[in-house]
Amino acid sequence: MMSFLAPAADAAAHGGGTPAWAMLAYLIAGVFFILALRGLSSPATSRAGNRNGMIGMAIAVITTLVTHDIANIVEIGIAIFLGGIIGVTIARKIAMTAMPELVAGFHSLVGLAAVLVGWAAYLNPGAFGLLTGDGSIGAVSKIEMGLGIAIGAITFSGSVIAFAKLSGKMSGSPIMLPGRHVINLGVLGAIIVLTALFALAGPGDTMPLIVAVTVLAFVIGFLLIIPIGGADMPVVVSMLNSYSGWAAAAMGFTLGNTAMIITGALVGSSGAILSYIMCRAMNRSFISVIAGGFGADDSGGGKGEPREQRPYKQGSAADAAYMLEQAERVIIIPGYGMAVAQAQHALREMADVLEAKGVEVKYAIHPVAGRMPGHMNVLLAEASVEYDKVFELEDINSEFAQADVAFIIGANDVVNPAAKTDKSSPIYGMPVFDVDKAKQVFFIKRSMGGVGYAGVDNDVFYMDQTMMLLSDAKKMVEEIVKAMD
Ligand code: NDP
Repeated sequence: MMSFLAPAADAAAHGGGTPAWAMLAYLIAGVFFILALRGLSSPATSRAGNRNGMIGMAIAVITTLVTHDIANIVEIGIAIFLGGIIGVTIARKIAMTAMPELVAGFHSLVGLAAVLVGWAAYLNPGAFGLLTGDGSIGAVSKIEMGLGIAIGAITFSGSVIAFAKLSGKMSGSPIMLPGRHVINLGVLGAIIVLTALFALAGPGDTMPLIVAVTVLAFVIGFLLIIPIGGADMPVVVSMLNSYSGWAAAAMGFTLGNTAMIITGALVGSSGAILSYIMCRAMNRSFISVIAGGFGADDSGGGKGEPREQRPYKQGSAADAAYMLEQAERVIIIPGYGMAVAQAQHALREMADVLEAKGVEVKYAIHPVAGRMPGHMNVLLAEASVEYDKVFELEDINSEFAQADVAFIIGANDVVNPAAKTDKSSPIYGMPVFDVDKAKQVFFIKRSMGGVGYAGVDNDVFYMDQTMMLLSDAKKMVEEIVKAMD
């Protein structure tokens, strides 16, 4: 309870208490953030959701600037200007395919900011209004500070590893350390004990305790994420999103900013709910994912292992065009490769031509297709594919038995039957599309050598009814459209 009152008390220390109008403005900003989350829950309302988020953030930032004497306005202006230039430059340069690692990179900055705010408050508690009557920092403030620094440091180092894995600078396969569960539990236990000792310590020298909490939290963030790979990485991405929210909420307590507490809690809880939903969709237990690689094979997936040479059928765009025109029902399964090739507009054009010829076309989206939650939905929406033609895994999987063509474009892991049959596979247990039930399977990828994110071979390439279309996805689809004309 005390900590909920802390923001007002702190604000008082900064300059006369938060005025009632500012509290109301923060509340309105909070309502806009909730409306934003509501809007983002469906592709049809996501633009309105984004707009509400921007309005809420504008209200929160302006209110904070007007009411808080945290720094001189010129310094804030310079920081906004420099940050704005960096943001605009990155936004202009970034390729759509690099968005997931960019998001991971930004999460790491939120974590680092929480660590720095916590340390600033520790080193200069008077400026943050954290001093008690005897000139020391109160126990509650020290708990908030310790938690903020710990969550921030875990978010930082975990996000750096996620960035390295998503950008291919580090193998996406799990990296297993011997005895990792014991080490992880030991480090987590040490962080909790040290934070408690820090909070209870008298005005003496608490520096070694807070240094130890910071270092151990950086280490545990690293240890928790390196053993995660294959099918579990999407859960980690949304989990780090959640951590960044809690780190921001902890900063909100230290800075005495209500809007930050509300926003942080919303991001933290929505990220946690998304992680839970993704775990359920992936048939994974939440605990096993956050504990890092429980039950995963210690060999770390199959990336780089010699591949068995097996016969497969290769076709051309003209072959595919002919068979697609003869089909009655086509199900398109997009994956990461469609994003790499930016083939969504050509794909939409192909679907339009087929529909004009009386073919029924549906899109099947796997919860972890691509490299970030909702990746495929965003791309298809960009190409103006109608939402009622886009189906989730559980809603469409039974329809492959009636489909004439399963058209796989840049997807791989999400159609790999090893997830159902091979216990040693890093994707074992993940639900996948039953493409083997379709009469004909077209598989677009650039070469037989390329593997999916999990780095394992795929039996679908070698099935009797599969025709491999080896090419860049956009080029292949454009050629199919041309051949149909
Ligand atoms: P995959 O990563 O399994 O496969 C991508 C496929 O696209 C490969 O077969 C690749 O083969 C092909 N490809 C790449 N570039 C092109 C191109 N220009 N033209 C044509 N094909 C191309 O993708 P999925 O979407 O099936 O699976 C997603 C995987 O990513 C899952 O394992 C998931 O766990 C993981 N993941 C998902 C996240 C999320 O939040 N959605 C986050 C992190 C990881 P080739 O190189 O031969 O062309």
